[in-house]
Amino acid sequence: MRLFVPRPVSAGVFLSYKCSSRCRHCMYACSPAWSADWISEGDLERVLTQLSPVILPSPLGPDRVGINYGLHFTGGEPFLNFDLLVKAVGMAHGLGIPSLFVETNSFWCANDWGTRDKFARLRDSGLDGLLISVNPFILEQVPFERTERAVRIGREVFGGPITAA
Ligand code: SF4
Repeated sequence: MRLFVPRPVSAGVFLSYKCSSRCRHCMYACSPAWSADWISEGDLERVLTQLSPVILPSPLGPDRVGINYGLHFTGGEPFLNFDLLVKAVGMAHGLGIPSLFVETNSFWCANDWGTRDKFARLRDSGLDGLLISVNPFILEQVPFERTERAVRIGREVFGGPITAA
């Protein structure tokens, strides 16, 4: 029997399995215990170059996000290596990949100015939106005020609704 794998229309790119949290439900068993084995810039460029011709934009437009469209960066927790995340977003944007977003558990959103600064830097590098992780398992480890801050400031910086999952 042959299994035909359809062409991808959206993708999530792991920057690392390392995470600030150790959620009981995590399907990848991400945790702080993983080594900081971040994807190399060379591998990132190779993967993004291969994906760039096939990724479809959100039905709302290439500068808007949708959970099953576009491309997102994830892990693990991508904000643990913010410099790499900024490079990854710039690289994907430069390749013309539409509907770019990043997934975060918001652990790092400890104050308004720091949250706004990081979101603005990502927006200026080509990021179109956010996916904020929020569920009972994550909230065992991330104070809810940080999740709320990420949503509030994310709306301010990116405009429109923020996707939460
Ligand atoms: S925050 Fe996400 S990636 Fe990290 S351990 Fe929890 S479910 Fe896994």
